Amino acid sequence: MEPKFCPQCGHAVQAREAPDGRIRPTCPECGYIVYLNPPIAVGVIAERADGKIVLVLRGENPGRGLWGLPAGFMEIDETVQQAALRECLEETGLVVELGDLWGVWSYYHEAKRTAGVLVLYTARVVKGEPRAGSDSLEARFFALDEIPFAELAFNTHREALTRWKVTRAGEAGR
Ligand SMILES: [Zn+2]
Repeated sequence: MEPKFCPQCGHAVQAREAPDGRIRPTCPECGYIVYLNPPIAVGVIAERADGKIVLVLRGENPGRGLWGLPAGFMEIDETVQQAALRECLEETGLVVELGDLWGVWSYYHEAKRTAGVLVLYTARVVKGEPRAGSDSLEARFFALDEIPFAELAFNTHREALTRWKVTRAGEAGR
């Protein structure tokens, strides 16, 4: 999303070459250069004592009507850990305790034509019953062999859950 106006003085910005050689929205009036950086989404693979993990049925696009891990964008005053806990509570009603970092993914949002970053943690459910949140239609627990891989909203979640399933199944087979 390219800004049209200077956030500093409100004048219309123009595409100009910045000192680093990259074309960036630049204010011809006050010289302000707009640096655009990818948004960071944070989420969890939250596991219950019985080994089931929670997924949410998305109520909003992208991916409306498809399943996803509880995840969302960081607020400007949060740590990644705080964002992970908040998003999980908002979307599933579950209080979790974070475990290890599960992975970091880059993705490309076609409609917005922007790159983004997804950070996922493992987590353990400590309290609550799953319920739909503000932008989710349903929150439900899935066993390893119930994960709806064909109905996931995002490739990043599919990759994360594929590795999760392989890892957990391997541990169970030992
Ligand atoms: Zn300006």
